[in-house]
Amino acid sequence: MLDEKKETLLTGVACSPGFAMGKAFLIFPERLKINYEPITDAQIPIEIQRYEKSQFSLIKEMEDLISSMETDSRNIMEILEANLLVASDPVIKDTIISKINSNKKAEAAIYETFEQQLKVFNNIKDEYLKTRSEDLAHIRKRLLYILRQKLTDFHIPKDAIVVAHSLMPNDVVKMRFNTKAIITEIGGISSHVSIMARSSNIPSVIGLQNVLYKLSNDDFVIIDGFIGKVYINPSEETKKIYDEKINKLEEHNERIGKLKDIECQTSDGHRINVFTNIDLREDLIYSETIGADGVGLFRTESLIITKGSLPNLQEQTDYYKNIAEIAYPKPVTIRAFDIGSDKFGEMIPHEELNPALGCRGIRFLLSRKDIFKIQVKAILTASLNKNIKLMLPMISDISEVIEAKNLIEECKTDLTAADISFDTHIPIGIMIETPAAAIMIESYLPHIDFISIGTNDLTQYALGADRNSELVSHVYNPYHPVVFRLIQMVLDRVKGTGLSVTVCGELASYPEALPILISMGIDSLSVAPSFVLETKNLIINTSKVNPLERFVEP
Ligand code: PEP
Ligand code: MG
Repeated sequence: MLDEKKETLLTGVACSPGFAMGKAFLIFPERLKINYEPITDAQIPIEIQRYEKSQFSLIKEMEDLISSMETDSRNIMEILEANLLVASDPVIKDTIISKINSNKKAEAAIYETFEQQLKVFNNIKDEYLKTRSEDLAHIRKRLLYILRQKLTDFHIPKDAIVVAHSLMPNDVVKMRFNTKAIITEIGGISSHVSIMARSSNIPSVIGLQNVLYKLSNDDFVIIDGFIGKVYINPSEETKKIYDEKINKLEEHNERIGKLKDIECQTSDGHRINVFTNIDLREDLIYSETIGADGVGLFRTESLIITKGSLPNLQEQTDYYKNIAEIAYPKPVTIRAFDIGSDKFGEMIPHEELNPALGCRGIRFLLSRKDIFKIQVKAILTASLNKNIKLMLPMISDISEVIEAKNLIEECKTDLTAADISFDTHIPIGIMIETPAAAIMIESYLPHIDFISIGTNDLTQYALGADRNSELVSHVYNPYHPVVFRLIQMVLDRVKGTGLSVTVCGELASYPEALPILISMGIDSLSVAPSFVLETKNLIINTSKVNPLERFVEP
């Protein structure tokens, strides 16, 4: 804790631009350790109720998933039904309750009961039963997750500056409307949490090591998300400086607000589309008011986070339809679930040592065709007005595109048989997020209708540097020539085909990168809603032919 009267300046990594002043609210890391402290007799009914509530939610979640399944996925259906049996198993339930009755906390009782079952399974040499033990471990994890979620749901005071060791994308979704700013001890600039802070317009500084131990709740804090500075207990003079900066920023925002209705052109007359990246419907409503040219990337994974489980066919169809209607006639590019890596670990029934290189994006979707098909059918059903495009994430081999397109055709056949109308020519595109896809781009061209370059992952995979790790943030450099070379390679090979190429990674909103991307030939950018106006402002002041012009003194 710092001397209350003394101003302290900390410098971290600028993650999401903007200024904020307010009181700190500290969130210490959740303890993953199971608490074995005995509970009192009076706490027993409360713990039983906690367990029963979470068991009820788990069963409901599994039933919802099963009811939204296709009949042709029998193996998966069998596994899910077997899981449901375990989740509702009366013997397991009785054992857990009897452990709680002998003064164990719900977490400890669940953990121990499943551990006993797991030991039995692990000693059996039957491969099938061994697989069942993975299911058991998964059910335990999910049950504990649901239970903990209820336990650790922190109530953040309105307009607080949240200070945490690290956050999950789920946390940012929950805090996006009542939090002034976010400070974290760890995290990478292109992590999904950072992206969400930017798209939610929440100023943020990350990578401030041990910051939780340098301040206390209710300390007054100023954060400067443009340059990564955090002032703890700022002096009156610093407060005054920041009051002025905030006023200037408001004036600037008012000025660029006037750009909302313009069709954006560079100063030498080249039309550039400014699309937006959205996570939720609310982002689209906001981006409509600021005049984006459409949605360049809808990260549908957010639907899973907000619901806490997979939305079923009807829920997805309604959501996508609504998004398409709000945006109409502008286009909406819906990306199939990019599950895996740092996104929604608890949804994935397997653990990986190296998840960013593992079963994520299209790899996950093709391994869970039941989930993929439901999403494709929902997207197709919502596409009737012809303003939806379907995008495939994390492509690294042409076979993935071919397999996905076959699945899309099957979905079309099923919908036609069920007399459901859809856009029969829905454009299908791919994300270029791996060097493999960028280098082999010509082999994809006959199979796709558009391309979107995801520089967040492209940087990670080209440089072999984790986008989420502050330890290699000096290696994770989105301005590295390799990133621009890969983009140029794609542009050169796509030239003349008529296919559109959008850049939808965070690089598209970096002021230093924008003139370079435009002069290379990029004519579509997709940025977080909070960057749409600033991007338009930069474009109208940028010359495509002479991108450095705006930096030259008159
Ligand atoms: C990207 O990788 O650049 C991208 C836009 O996708 P995401 O950030 O969701 O991984
Ligand atoms: Mg990506």
